[in-house]
Amino acid sequence: MDYQDIRLKKMVFLNHCLLNVDARGPGVAFRRGPSSELIQAFLKKDINIVQLPCCECLGWGGAARKEFDKFLPIITHAVRFGWLPLFNPIAKASLSSYDSLCKKEAVKVVDRMEDYLREGFTICGVIGMNDSPTCGVTKKVNMVEYMKQMAIAIHAGNAVDPVKMNLDQLMDGKSFFMGNLIEEMRKRSLDIKVIGFEPWAESLEAESERVVKLLNL
Ligand code: SF4
Repeated sequence: MDYQDIRLKKMVFLNHCLLNVDARGPGVAFRRGPSSELIQAFLKKDINIVQLPCCECLGWGGAARKEFDKFLPIITHAVRFGWLPLFNPIAKASLSSYDSLCKKEAVKVVDRMEDYLREGFTICGVIGMNDSPTCGVTKKVNMVEYMKQMAIAIHAGNAVDPVKMNLDQLMDGKSFFMGNLIEEMRKRSLDIKVIGFEPWAESLEAESERVVKLLNL
C-alpha cells in the first residue's frame, strides 16, 4: 500500500538493555532503569526506537541466565579434580551453539532493516553495548576464561564481582550477536553506522551525548 502520512520515517536500532536494564545478567546492571538521557535525545527529535533482541535472555536462560549457571558446578568440579583442560571443548561447543542462535536473530533483524529501507525509511544507526560478549561492537568477552575464573573464585571461596570479572576478560573482537549483525549487514551491503555504547563511562549523560553526536542527528 502506498499512502503518505506525517511520520518522519527515521529510526535507530537500540540495544535491548538500553531500554530495559532488567535484561542485564545478574550483578552487571549499569543503572537503575532505562537509559533516559539517550532515549530522550531520540524522542526530542521524533526518531523511532527499534529494540534489538537480548540474545542472552533467549539463549542463556532468561534474566537469571539459568543455563549459564548450570555450567558453574561442572567447572568448579573440573577445578577441584584437575580436569579443567577437558572443559575447553565442552565450553566451545556450547558457545558455538549460542553463536548460531545469535546469527539467526541477527538475520531476522537485518531482514527488518531491509524492509524499512526498501520502504524509504532512514535508519540513523545501530547502538550496541561495548562491555558485552553478545552485543559488543568493537569488543567481546573471553567467555571460556570468564567461566573458568568464576569457577576458580567460587572454589576458593572468594567473593565474585561480576562487573570486574567481565571487564577483566574484555578484549577486541567479534561479539556473538552484534558481530553477526555487522557481518550480515556487510554481506547485504547495508551501510549503517554501528556505535558501541560504553555503559561504564564516568558520565552516562556525556556518553549519551557522544553517541548522539556520532549519529549526526
Ligand atoms: S548487552 Fe545484549 S545480551 Fe547483554 S543484556 Fe544487553 S541486550 Fe542482553
